[in-house]
Amino acid sequence: NRTASAARVRGGRPMQNDAGHPVRYPEGNVLLRHLARDFPVVSHGEGVYLFDTQGKRYLDGSAGALVASVGHGNREVAGRIHEQLLRVGYVNGTHFTTEVTEQLASRLCALAPEGLTRAAFLGSGSEAVEAAIKFIRQLWVERGEPQRAKVITRVPSYHGNTLYALSLSGRPHYKKFFGPMLSEVVTTPAPYPYRSGLEDYARDGADHYARLLEETLQREGPGTIAAFIAEPVIGSSAGASPPPPGYFARVQEICGRYGILTLADEVMCGCGRTGRFFASELYDFTPDVLVLGKGISGGYAPLSALLVRQEHLEQMRLGSGGFMHAQTYLQAPAMTAAGLAVLDYYERHGVVANAARVGQYLQRRLREVLLPLPFVGSVQGVGLMAGVELVEDKASKKPFERSRKVVEGLLSELFAHGLVLWSNTGHADGTNGDLVMIGPPLIITEAEVDELVEKLARGITAFMERL
Ligand code: PMP
Repeated sequence: NRTASAARVRGGRPMQNDAGHPVRYPEGNVLLRHLARDFPVVSHGEGVYLFDTQGKRYLDGSAGALVASVGHGNREVAGRIHEQLLRVGYVNGTHFTTEVTEQLASRLCALAPEGLTRAAFLGSGSEAVEAAIKFIRQLWVERGEPQRAKVITRVPSYHGNTLYALSLSGRPHYKKFFGPMLSEVVTTPAPYPYRSGLEDYARDGADHYARLLEETLQREGPGTIAAFIAEPVIGSSAGASPPPPGYFARVQEICGRYGILTLADEVMCGCGRTGRFFASELYDFTPDVLVLGKGISGGYAPLSALLVRQEHLEQMRLGSGGFMHAQTYLQAPAMTAAGLAVLDYYERHGVVANAARVGQYLQRRLREVLLPLPFVGSVQGVGLMAGVELVEDKASKKPFERSRKVVEGLLSELFAHGLVLWSNTGHADGTNGDLVMIGPPLIITEAEVDELVEKLARGITAFMERL
């Protein structure tokens, strides 16, 4: 139905320019174009599908970069944002507040893990991570412990691309042109079931990774550590890797023992992606600070959120007067209206429940269909985020040589056949091989999952045969 209505919207015809040719920009002026020389020009979207100006249809199997939570062309959400824009699109967030901002804050805090009762809104995941770490730094300085400057991060991990957020990311090869970094980071291995080396990841994972974290702390001196940052489910850097049972309880106990603050980066795994609104909830993680992004506005406006504890904010109020951080678009109503419209849409249409139900189906179908294929080493994930690692040899888990660019080749092939997925490679950092990342809009149906899995399986088989 969604497809039929998309065709109606555009009259089923490719968009054309004045000369009657389909619109294309092969030599445009856009600075950053990653994969293709000749990018398709998207004319519109509908549900889980995108359409280009040549009339081709794409199943958006990764919701962009796991962003388009409520699907494309969502008129209910767009209409709500439009209404707010007609009222007021921008106010200075250090002078004013608005109804949409206040409502979004109170609704999110009501859903959030215990104690997170204060929210700020910014424009991107990287900004929220930066603000979160600045919040924690300021807190330690105000507490009279300015030496607590180091942050423990996990390898692999990704927390953003601005320089502070990049500093905190456990992806060494992303940093190679940009040193020196802004923050001292200390690293500990991130749980990744396929390459943990453990015979029984579920049984021994929590102990194993907790021991490694404890060793890192002892080596560095716990009194020099400000925070521990982690994605509850690791996103792009480890292909949707969930923690082993009990992991976050152990992490929390260890950090608590040394007064280290915990920061949950739910930019990718939050907002219903795992089948719960907050991924931390799934793993009994009650962080001191939490950040959201991407799905929070479904791509209808740039938006991210920082959630903190009242008592921490109060310490700052009594000390310096408050958190010393502001940006032009802080709580801009054009952005928070998108967040509120998406949240309302979630509630009205049971989006998180859909993600939980269809997510289980996706996880099951991916395992059933892909795992028997040659070269598919592992499938992991939870809810509507999943990762597939391709390997040259399944018995030894030997990755393909990086120079063969296996996942890039596969993704271009899938793209040509109208399935858009995301990839990642950890070869340079030695953490994993070729990873395909799956994360469709949270409104996806079982039938659309069937189409996704079938296209992916066919693509892998055809591509690998040629390889
Ligand atoms: N943290 C995580 C876990 C992410 O996945 C991302 C984006 N991929 C970011 C932070 C950065 O968000 P943004 O690209 O919106 O700055």
